[in-house]
Amino acid sequence: MKNDSFKTIGDQLKKADSVLIVTHYNMDGDAVGSAAAICHVLRRMGKESWILIEDEVPGNLQFLDRDYTTFDQDVLGEPDVSMCVDCGDLTRFPKRADRFMTGKVHICVDHHKTSEPFCDYNYIDPGAAATGELVYQLIRAMGEEVDKEAGEALFAAITTDTGNFQYSNTTRQSHDIAADLYDCGIDANGVSVEIYETVHLAKLKVQARAMENLELFADGKVAMSYLTLKMREECGAAPDETDGIVSELRSIDGVEVAVFIKETEDEGRIRVSLRSKKDYDVARVAAAFEGGGHTKAAGCTYYGTLEDARRDLLAKVLEYM
Ligand code: 5GP
Ligand code: MN
Repeated sequence: MKNDSFKTIGDQLKKADSVLIVTHYNMDGDAVGSAAAICHVLRRMGKESWILIEDEVPGNLQFLDRDYTTFDQDVLGEPDVSMCVDCGDLTRFPKRADRFMTGKVHICVDHHKTSEPFCDYNYIDPGAAATGELVYQLIRAMGEEVDKEAGEALFAAITTDTGNFQYSNTTRQSHDIAADLYDCGIDANGVSVEIYETVHLAKLKVQARAMENLELFADGKVAMSYLTLKMREECGAAPDETDGIVSELRSIDGVEVAVFIKETEDEGRIRVSLRSKKDYDVARVAAAFEGGGHTKAAGCTYYGTLEDARRDLLAKVLEYM
């Protein structure tokens, strides 16, 4: 299905007085940055806008949240527009799905290749390294200024989803937009320090704990590790502080596919993160468990025990090799 233009989507936002924004749970830098940037610009345009969340903003991204997020399901009543960014289906924001649907008009701006258009207006571009690149184009198409604050949120979105401009999803467009953000007055180093150099010691400890559980399969091409809830808690790490472990697994010499599996606070609900280095399509593996994502970065939720998840994920990864 063809995308609506940023102009069309921008016109819908311009007409609205209230805009409810949502993004996926387990928020990453692209989720928070994209949502914060559009929320900031909409408020500057005189609109009422809030980002409705269902889990806490990760500690190292809280600097982007200048009172934009709320857990209040009643915020904005029936909004003129409901907009989801960096996620393309209702299962990515389960506790807010009903609330999202109360909007009079629905908009989706996303870059996941497994997303299907489900809103009135959709812009889904798997070629964009980050949803932040799309939100940048949307703001420009609306004729609105990208000020320092919006620019820093967009920079945070792009630097995180491109692995700081090193993943294969990084394009000239990523760099062009980043260059323009410099012209908008961003403090790129300030953003990077907040994100990458404000790491909680517990996060490093939990990473080390996960490395103790590392197993290699298929002649070292598949790296797998896991954490029980107890292991994470013993390290004093927050749920989101296991982010990044899977990319460490992928970085190992000879590894093509990395799988990281962890227990969550909900018994029987296991979170799975998948990464690949070259051609292997991990989104296909994730999709086999009702998840999704990108070719080289995907995820899913597994319902069952940690042991079953390890067995079934390994079998599926090997099957698609
Ligand atoms: P992560 O491993 O960082 O949680 O997720 C990697 C990528 O896969 C992200 O782009 C994320 O949005 C996507 N992803 C992770 N989990 C799921 C899921 O359960 N469903 C879908 N559709 N995408 C997911
Ligand atoms: Mn993203």
